[in-house]
Amino acid sequence: MGAPTLEALARQASTCTACRLSETRTTVVFGTGSPASGLLVVGEGPGREEDLKGEPFVGRSGQLLDRLILEELGLTRASFYIANVVKCRPPGNRDPAPDEVAACAPFLQGQLGFLDPRVVVSLGNVATRVLLGTDEGISALRGRTHPWQGRVLVPTFHPAYALRGGGAVVAQMRADLVRAKQALAATR
Ligand code: SF4
Repeated sequence: MGAPTLEALARQASTCTACRLSETRTTVVFGTGSPASGLLVVGEGPGREEDLKGEPFVGRSGQLLDRLILEELGLTRASFYIANVVKCRPPGNRDPAPDEVAACAPFLQGQLGFLDPRVVVSLGNVATRVLLGTDEGISALRGRTHPWQGRVLVPTFHPAYALRGGGAVVAQMRADLVRAKQALAATR
């Protein structure tokens, strides 16, 4: 990509047509937040509300995520960075296709380079599989930390799944977020 700053990379993304998702998106959802806490949260792709507003995780699942991160890590949305594997909404909220993930990968790699997070939390099957390069499911991958690109990766459920799954899933998400908090403290 060759952008000199994160802001320049975001400007590049805002007009990107490198994959077919550019044909149906309303807005490119690059990511928001701050690198200050050392935490990067990665989801799979923007949904309908995100596509309209240009911000990641603004709907009900985003509100649940914000609440859990505040309660377990003491971090507000402004103090960590949150982005998706693909920056444009897959139509009908389908999973992003492998070629779309590959086309968008330089933006996520660029974000990792500029933000340099110590801990990455991946939300759900798609993001976790993409980052870890595995076909294993989230239930097998969560519940522990993974060394990843010189950082710590903490997989957890997607908050939309937690909204449907109720208290037991939320409790497992909380436990994963405590793992992220411990990893942040251990890598300070
Ligand atoms: Fe470009 Fe990524 Fe959007 Fe595809 S999803 S058009 S690669 S910004």
